[in-house]
Amino acid sequence: MPFTPYSLMVFGWAQIVMDLQPLVAILTGEGKWHGWTHTFLAALVLGAASAVTGKYLSEWGLALLAWGRKPRLVIGWTVAFVSAWIGTFSHILIDGVLHREMEPLAPFVAGNPLFLALTQAQVQKFCLICGALGTVVYFAVQLVVILKKQTLRRVDKRKD
Ligand SMILES: [Zn+2]
Repeated sequence: MPFTPYSLMVFGWAQIVMDLQPLVAILTGEGKWHGWTHTFLAALVLGAASAVTGKYLSEWGLALLAWGRKPRLVIGWTVAFVSAWIGTFSHILIDGVLHREMEPLAPFVAGNPLFLALTQAQVQKFCLICGALGTVVYFAVQLVVILKKQTLRRVDKRKD
């Protein structure tokens, strides 16, 4: 399943959807900042909702940017759902490490077993390292794909 910059659009949309409830809590002063949307159960449901809405929003946005040129880009359902769920579940894992008041296993378990009492700087360093490792893995996979295609072309030419 190829991940593209387009799947990142669905991933990013899922991050926004996860933080809509905290945004409302901050703006109104009502409720917990990291309430019901910051649970694994909500990550499953909001991830599915983000996949469906994010797929169509991303395709619509890309069509607008392309000024109607054909062919239109279509984001596959598997890519949309996997991207959205990676977004929502990683959101819970990272926020859970940072925010003591979260209850990621609610309604089954109270409290926050993910909370590590890390400093903001430690979490930022961890995220930077993960981003760097992810970038290296991404380009390594791209290199393998390119080399594999070149090898297949050479084999095809020898057959001709
Ligand atoms: Zn959050």
